Amino acid sequence: MCKKPNILLIYTGGTIGMIKDSETGTLHNFNFDELLEYIPELNLLDCNISTQSFAKPIDSSNMNPSNWVEIASIIEEAYDNYDGFVILHGSDTMSYTASALSFMLENLSKPVIFTGSQLPIGDLRTDAKENLITSIQIASLCNEGRPVIREVGLYFEYKLYRANRSTKINAEHFEAFDSLNYPPLIVSGVNLSVNYQALLPSNSGKKLKVHKKLGSNILLVKMFPGIDEVTINHLFAYPEIKGLVLETYGSGNLTNEKWFVKAIKKLIDKEIPIVNVTQCSGGSVDMNIYKTNIKYRKMGIISGKDITTESALAKLLFLLGQNISANSFKTIYETSLRGEMK
Ligand code: ASP
Repeated sequence: MCKKPNILLIYTGGTIGMIKDSETGTLHNFNFDELLEYIPELNLLDCNISTQSFAKPIDSSNMNPSNWVEIASIIEEAYDNYDGFVILHGSDTMSYTASALSFMLENLSKPVIFTGSQLPIGDLRTDAKENLITSIQIASLCNEGRPVIREVGLYFEYKLYRANRSTKINAEHFEAFDSLNYPPLIVSGVNLSVNYQALLPSNSGKKLKVHKKLGSNILLVKMFPGIDEVTINHLFAYPEIKGLVLETYGSGNLTNEKWFVKAIKKLIDKEIPIVNVTQCSGGSVDMNIYKTNIKYRKMGIISGKDITTESALAKLLFLLGQNISANSFKTIYETSLRGEMK
């Protein structure tokens, strides 16, 4: 590689692929094959661009794990024929999809860059052009015959983040994403400044393995002052429950009220994995600081450390699809698999 790279653009939906109807003012999808008409600048890039679109592009609030499998399958099929992939996706759930793909694509040795925009591509003030053009440039980056990025990234408003460290933080600003616990992999200024030390190490030539089996029936519960016994017992009694992510306070703190301890204990006895992630935007869970938490640690609650909620959910679904024994689930979950936690 490093000749003229072949880049595959995959359009899944979202604002970036929309234009405004001048009469009604509503947003609708344009024919993605006509992308070059809207962004003629793409012709100036030093790469060959092909496009593929979901048959029915969707707003990312409708994304679900079966769509993640669809994206993974497109990449798997095209993997040998392309040097990099750019996925256009609605920003609302982009961090969930991109985190999931980071787990599903094991031994990735090519760039998979997610991007989107806050304003449609046809809008005069759109952020779509810069996001798309720079994402393609990043997917084309090459050093000594090898792609610079060999992981799943998310590019938005001048920064490339590790996908499974990113989170949507703003519904209004162009700077819609952040990565509070990990530095950006690339900052786009006059030059593309690559933070080489932050990149995932090379997978030493291992073959891509695409995992398409994911778990289901998990629950995400955010702790709040006043959450009560009846609600918790009702939620935890969900018969098909396979896993639980608990968004806790500060460094992973939970109430130690007796009824809550009892409810957690019941799930642990049923070998349901429970992951503790902090509801703070930055920082880490540490279940050794407060006495109340030591009890939960000893009971077997998994520490999500500094993982994002999006990534915690994706990792849980991924690992639940892997037939991992209840004994080793905690150890594997607490190990960083794709740079998603410290
Ligand atoms: N609702 C849109 C979506 O996530 C917003 C966007 O594209 O940014 O699909």
